[in-house]
Amino acid sequence: MIPFLDLKIINDRYYRQITEAVNRVIESGRYIGGDELERFETIMKEITGTTCVVPTGNGLDALTLILEGYKATGRLKEGDEIIIPANTYIASFMAVWRAGLKPVPVDAGPLTMNIDFSKIASAITPSTKAIMTVHLYGLSAFDPILNDLREQRGLIVIEDCAQAIGAKSRTGGPVSNVAGGLGDAAAFSFYPTKNIGALGDGGAVTTSDRKLADAVRALANYGSDKRYHNIYKGVNSRLDAIQASVLNVKLSHLDEITERRIKRAETYNRLIDNPDITLPTFTADGAHVYHQYVVRTAKRENLRRFLHDNGIETDCHYIVAAIDQPCCSGEFKGEFKVTREIAATCVSLPIGDHLSESQIKEIARAVNRFKANK
Ligand SMILES: *Cc1c(COP(=O)(O)O)cnc(C)c1O
Repeated sequence: MIPFLDLKIINDRYYRQITEAVNRVIESGRYIGGDELERFETIMKEITGTTCVVPTGNGLDALTLILEGYKATGRLKEGDEIIIPANTYIASFMAVWRAGLKPVPVDAGPLTMNIDFSKIASAITPSTKAIMTVHLYGLSAFDPILNDLREQRGLIVIEDCAQAIGAKSRTGGPVSNVAGGLGDAAAFSFYPTKNIGALGDGGAVTTSDRKLADAVRALANYGSDKRYHNIYKGVNSRLDAIQASVLNVKLSHLDEITERRIKRAETYNRLIDNPDITLPTFTADGAHVYHQYVVRTAKRENLRRFLHDNGIETDCHYIVAAIDQPCCSGEFKGEFKVTREIAATCVSLPIGDHLSESQIKEIARAVNRFKANK
């Protein structure tokens, strides 16, 4: 069986460096904060082009803390509307709810599967205060319209970069042209399955807004701006030194890790030639870092079964759209045609760093043998 993911094989590639790094932390006697955290912040600033990085316990906290940070600094208030893509992982919605704000989903574009930028304007109301763009599956979701909305309407642009570390945009944002620098603040996740994964949970906020960064840092540390001085009702959300040390090893190999993903996607796009399968867009310019390689077919379950019977494990991102999850209680009644179509037709092929080039070719050949009407 070709597994969809194999985290042990993925981490084995850097096994020696990782164990050395973890051992350094154990020997140091310092398990919260310290050198590895400082190095992590420096590396994340270099990757995103931002001036402030706040490590967090996970990606959901990073997103939530950005929103709470804007509330603490007076730029958002309870009940404000945040435009977000309907086609995203539920965490994007959860962050908005946790911060006491109102998510306003916008349907996906059929080619990008990311937020349809042409539909944003009609979703804006007087209560709209921010837009959360999600670089889903690793494809940077950025359009100059976001710069215009920032500058002309004063909307805050937040990026959910959980799936897109290192993704580039063809047009730049206010800080850089890389995910994390395309808006006012960005959240990263280092959940083990992400392109750069820890050996447990991890996350980070990047921004070049010093005031926001200070608020987020305090909120993540019991609302404390200095020792025994609590200015906000905060939380405890930290990146452990051990996880930071693992991430520092893997982040130093980000470019090659990303290149291998792009190479595997390129092989799929070159070899898969089945009229019953719609492929994701391919680009080698770094705009897509292929966290997931999502194909679509009207006979989704048949394709999954066929591949399973041919020794290939697949997954679905996501089998039920966030807007249709039970926790939404039917709140999102709009049409969301593309999002619901993606949820009904998507299949994620394996693309992780556990795969060899010959396995990718084997998967592509199997996909080509699939017949939807059989
Ligand atoms: C993984 C993910 C998150 C949440 O990250 P965690 O570290 O699991 O909390 C948020 N948004 C998206 C799009 C994700 O894929």
